[in-house]
Amino acid sequence: MNKIEHIGIAVKNLEDSNKLFTALLNAEPYKVEKVDSESVSTSFFQVGESKIELLEATDPNSAIAKFIEKRGEGIHHIAYDVTDIEAEMKRLAKEGFTLLNETPKKGADNKLVCFLHPKSTNGVLIELCQEISA
Ligand code: ZN
Repeated sequence: MNKIEHIGIAVKNLEDSNKLFTALLNAEPYKVEKVDSESVSTSFFQVGESKIELLEATDPNSAIAKFIEKRGEGIHHIAYDVTDIEAEMKRLAKEGFTLLNETPKKGADNKLVCFLHPKSTNGVLIELCQEISA
């Protein structure tokens, strides 16, 4: 794992939270993106070499909507940057972690991603992400 790529924060209203984080970080989001496969609208803020991802549910049955229902707004996942996501998935499966998808899938912000079930990681949802090269 190379670094913490971003921290994902579940929010109820992306527009309100974009304003809040723009004031907090003194910078506008560099990207706002809908990810239909995950039923979320996202925005990304650059903070030095790390990023903050805000996620709002676009569907009441989505994982983000259920998370907020259960735990309220707040930190939803930590994403680690990896160079070779398939090799890393193999390594982590062998270590006994529960992968939520068997093959990498296309995530937000031009990334291949894979999630690890929080029950195998002390309650913290983990995202692996690899930049898709152009
Ligand atoms: Zn993420």
